[in-house]
Amino acid sequence: MIFGAGVFKGMMVTLKNFLTSYYRDRDNGGIFTVQYPEEREKLAENYRNLPFLVYDGAPDQIRCVACGICERECPPKCIHIEMATDAAGKPARKPAVFDIDYSLCMNCGICEEVCPFDSIYMDHTFEITSQAGPRSLIRGKEALARSNDYFRKIRPAMAAAVDQKRKTAEDKKKAAATPPPPQEIK
Ligand code: SF4
Ligand code: SF4
Repeated sequence: MIFGAGVFKGMMVTLKNFLTSYYRDRDNGGIFTVQYPEEREKLAENYRNLPFLVYDGAPDQIRCVACGICERECPPKCIHIEMATDAAGKPARKPAVFDIDYSLCMNCGICEEVCPFDSIYMDHTFEITSQAGPRSLIRGKEALARSNDYFRKIRPAMAAAVDQKRKTAEDKKKAAATPPPPQEIK
């Protein structure tokens, strides 16, 4: 090996980075500084931060049926759910309480993975700091609710796949509920 070749190679990398820093072309190896918060980087679709609950129609129609799977599987146990009951005291298959403590959430996305009802997904929001203490980071179901349109906007490919899956399941359910046409008597 030629003496000093490693140093020369390192200097060439430095020179290349110095020159490319003049071009704001990230895709071609340029180096640049984002002037946050005035400028923001476009987040990747699968960027994940904190969970939210999806609703169809009105904000009080979240898809969650309070099955409790995400609560059970959440590693730091930061989800708390209480099932609502109807007038007769029977489980109403929706949460009366659905809280997530954002100060404990470790952004793992397990709740999204295990939910069998397409109800909880990871958001792109990350500016949640508060000077009001950690309890101010507990979010209730109203604060967690986001429309399916919002989901489609931030994660279009994932939302389209979920929409398609739900439509197929709905069509199958309708077909199964439709009585077969009467048999022709010959
Ligand atoms: S992202 Fe992980 S830590 Fe946060 S609520 Fe979901 S399962 Fe819990
Ligand atoms: S978000 Fe999903 S997994 Fe969690 S309680 Fe609701 S339906 Fe069950």
